Amino acid sequence: MGASEAEVLIRQHLIDPEVCIRCNTCEDTCPIDAITHDDRNYVVDPAICNGCNACVPPCPTGSIDHWRTVPKATAYSVVEQFTWDELPQQQELAVGAVVLADEETPPQHNAAVSASSVKAPGSALRPSLHLYDIKKPITATVVGNYRLTESDAESDIRHIVLDFGQQAFPVLEGQSIGVIPPGTDASGKPHYLRMYSVASPRDGERPGYNNLALTVKRVVSDHDGQAVLGVASNYLCDLPKGATVQVTGPFGENFLMPNHPGSNLLMICTGTGAAPMRAMTEYRRRLLAQGKPVDGKLMLFFGARKQGELPYFGPLLKLPASFIETHFAFSRADGEPKTYVQDKLRAAAPAVAELLKGDTYLYVCGLKGMETGVMEALRDICRAADIDWTELHARMVSEARFHVETY
Ligand code: NAP
Repeated sequence: MGASEAEVLIRQHLIDPEVCIRCNTCEDTCPIDAITHDDRNYVVDPAICNGCNACVPPCPTGSIDHWRTVPKATAYSVVEQFTWDELPQQQELAVGAVVLADEETPPQHNAAVSASSVKAPGSALRPSLHLYDIKKPITATVVGNYRLTESDAESDIRHIVLDFGQQAFPVLEGQSIGVIPPGTDASGKPHYLRMYSVASPRDGERPGYNNLALTVKRVVSDHDGQAVLGVASNYLCDLPKGATVQVTGPFGENFLMPNHPGSNLLMICTGTGAAPMRAMTEYRRRLLAQGKPVDGKLMLFFGARKQGELPYFGPLLKLPASFIETHFAFSRADGEPKTYVQDKLRAAAPAVAELLKGDTYLYVCGLKGMETGVMEALRDICRAADIDWTELHARMVSEARFHVETY
């Protein structure tokens, strides 16, 4: 027997405005354009969302994964969600209301197989997640703030070390943390948190210390080149030693590294997308330095405008070729043709193809725009080496060996 519209309950998909970092990943991922945003909130349109969950695994914070059972007739509208500063509590439901979710809601997991297959490598350690949130952040102390780019470089990229003292804040390579800038925005509301990848290995920026580093670029213009001062990046880049910072997290359970030392890492990054690669590389380097057996090969493709703009350039050069094969791609080097990471991948095609045949975990991090070029380069490299890229890519995704984090 059918139920009236007022009696029908649906499981409404909502995004937590207190945790969301407005990275646009969910809107990009949604296969049916059910997610939209204004200048403050990302929201899900209940009239379009079919609960396919495609957007859930790629979300770096978990803010996407919230649900309320509500009468279909009074589901929270997009306009209402735009006004929220926090999620509403689950409302009490009328006795006798009929849950027709099975009839009314299409089956879960019915779209975007590749996105929903994203998971951590099987051998990755289990990460700690969401230990601190915006209502209950952890206070960290700045113990270092160093410029990574050369003094005459256009961009000011900094290595900022945060110490957590006696408080537990365990992170793994590939995870992120949230930083809450103090103060309020133009509308008088508290700033929302911004996410930064951890650039240190699991045992601390300084081994054995309860600290971690972030790789932060001072934002002084928007994507169109208009002058805009990034709230969180300028706050972080200006912090003196001894200052305290409100932190949330840790976040992220997918972009983790395999924990078996025989695995190969193929890392492709641009700019500050180097942060997780630096963490993974440094973890493996420390294992080797401790005399532990590490058979896996490391290959890094790293793009920046010029050598002086490339964070961690000096330390990377010191790593022996027997440990890591590094390819730099400079797009604005004086007197040299514009080169992107995908060009360097193609130039190293035979070695890349060989690596892809093995027990290799691939990580891409940095500018969103690089994704297409990198995917095309990998496809062409495989074609030339008689590897079926479509099959290999699907297998790498299903085996959690293909990880992309771009913004
Ligand atoms: P950037 O300096 O603007 O660019 C780095 C390099 O990428 C430049 O050489 C640039 O060349 C090149 N590039 C531009 N378009 C490209 C394309 N389509 N394919 C390949 N390369 C391309 O980079 P950034 O400002 O550091 O930005 C890095 C990105 O990483 C940001 O989106 C950031 O949000 C993200 N990220 C940061 C963190 C973190 O923890 N800080 C973590 C994860 C991701 P041009 O000369 O053409 O500009």
